[in-house]
Amino acid sequence: MRSQADARLGDRDGVAAETDDRDVLARRFWTGGVVMLGASLLFLLIDLLYVKEHLAALVAVKVIQCAILAVAVLAARRAKDLDALLRLGAYTVCGLYVTTAALAVLRGEFVASSFIFIATAMATASFVPWGPWMQALTVVAASVAIFVARMLQPQPVDASMAYRALAVGFALFGSVWVAREHDVQRRKRRLAEAQVAEESRISAALARAGEEMIRCESTPVILDRACPLVVELLRCDACSLVLKDAGENVFIPHNAFSHRDQDWQAMREMRVPARMVEPLIAHLASSGVARLKTSKMQNARARELHQRYHIGTSLYVPLRRGGEIMGVISAHYKDEARRFDRVQERIAVGIAHLASLALENTRLLEELREANRIKAEFVSTMSHELRTPVSVILGYTEMLDDDTISRDERSRILQRVRRSGIELLELIEETLNLSRLEAGRDPPRYERVRPRELFTDLVAEFAAMVPLEDVELRWVGPDDVELVTDPRKLRIILKNLIGNALKFTPRGEVVLACRDEGDVVRCTVRDTGIGIAPEHLPIIFDMFRQVDSSDARAYRGAGLGLHIVQRLVHQLGGEISVTSELGRGSAFELTLPRGTSAQESPTQPSADPLS
Ligand code: ADP
Repeated sequence: MRSQADARLGDRDGVAAETDDRDVLARRFWTGGVVMLGASLLFLLIDLLYVKEHLAALVAVKVIQCAILAVAVLAARRAKDLDALLRLGAYTVCGLYVTTAALAVLRGEFVASSFIFIATAMATASFVPWGPWMQALTVVAASVAIFVARMLQPQPVDASMAYRALAVGFALFGSVWVAREHDVQRRKRRLAEAQVAEESRISAALARAGEEMIRCESTPVILDRACPLVVELLRCDACSLVLKDAGENVFIPHNAFSHRDQDWQAMREMRVPARMVEPLIAHLASSGVARLKTSKMQNARARELHQRYHIGTSLYVPLRRGGEIMGVISAHYKDEARRFDRVQERIAVGIAHLASLALENTRLLEELREANRIKAEFVSTMSHELRTPVSVILGYTEMLDDDTISRDERSRILQRVRRSGIELLELIEETLNLSRLEAGRDPPRYERVRPRELFTDLVAEFAAMVPLEDVELRWVGPDDVELVTDPRKLRIILKNLIGNALKFTPRGEVVLACRDEGDVVRCTVRDTGIGIAPEHLPIIFDMFRQVDSSDARAYRGAGLGLHIVQRLVHQLGGEISVTSELGRGSAFELTLPRGTSAQESPTQPSADPLS
């Protein structure tokens, strides 16, 4: 397994590859140089034994040649980089060609030197990675040396000389082609090796990021870990993360890493309007990554802010939720001259993907936990709410068995049994309404409705269920207020609101006031009941939320009514709000679009047996 340090970026790998190349070449130079030095010394020995003419000059040139080789062999080990080594090689080979040509002139024979020219040209083309141009340079040096030698030693041209000249010519110019071919192959191999190295660096970095993200169990932890991870894996100077506040349509800095403390304190106060970064967000949505130099920023305010916080170059990647960009991670270099490369870009994109995935997973997990909580709450509330009326029904029906009870008593008991039965039915209705809403298989059916008529129906219904002696239930407003909406849903809404008002109002009045306000119809259900404390107002529309949810509570109910009401109002395109004062009463106000006759649905029998 690669260590964390290996996963980090840097040009260390490139430097290592070049060092490897230099070492290999230095070894080849050394070996080639030593072999040639040995050969030169042997040639010198032969010269000393057999050559009588120009011996002193011959020895002098030979010594120069050996010196060139010896210097090359020694210097090869010391060359500080590949280029220096290649230059040294080229000069050595040129020196060899010149001295070989000089020796040929002095010896008066060209066979051995032809062989040396051919062998050297082919060896350098095959083993020295200096490409066709350097090879051509040495070939030019060889050609000039041969030409000068030919001028100094004019011999009559014979067939063997023509063959040799042709062979040397082919070998010299052919070596340039060989050098070019090797160079092409070498470049391809280099490219493939670089790609493999790049991929393995990216995979190691992303494996590290994945490992880190898997360990994060909650949204805040993921967001906190993202910036340090970016700085570590991209080896950049700093990183910051902004999140979109969809409500206010602004981007808010959430956290940062490696920025100066005072810069971050100032940054975190910022609210970046979404429209200010619109082009960047649009670019991120389509390309997934953006690079920007501070001085090139078109928005003067953004440029000024980046300069103030010492940001020279930035790399941006989006955090997504579904198709939406919910935030942006930005990696920074202080120095504008530094730029993020392709590998850093890909790692940053990978980190952003992993973080988005981790965020989505934790969101699902949190939703699952919430769903589990709701399920547990549902089971417990339902069993409590079902048990009470059933026990009442069973208890009272047993009492009915007793023949001694009076007629009046019997009718009171039957009244209670009936009320408990209605309670049960309502509970089942609420549950069915909720499940229909959850399943999304209850689209609104629009018709012309008069709330006054619904109210009259509801008064009759409530009067049959609860004695309305101490509470006055009345309508306020013109009778002809009309709107185009789903009558069944509006009935459920009003029934729940009025039912609650009656339940929580021991005495006084419950009023339904409706008025036409042009585009909307505003209906308010007002009561003079127990009221709701301000701290409870934000939660009463949540599922299973009751001000008093204890088993010993004084008022019955499953805590589903207002949740269903709110969802139905939203489904009908309206809004609902509540104001209340403890001990004085509450007012639930709903506004619904007035609608037009064009919206009315074609008449169809209702599919809902409970409606
Ligand atoms: P429930 O079926 O338990 O009444 P709801 O969702 O209809 O559930 O209401 C949630 C809670 O809101 C109630 O339990 C009650 O505490 C409070 N509430 C609703 N309407 C009123 C009202 N008119 N007056 C006082 N409290 C109310």
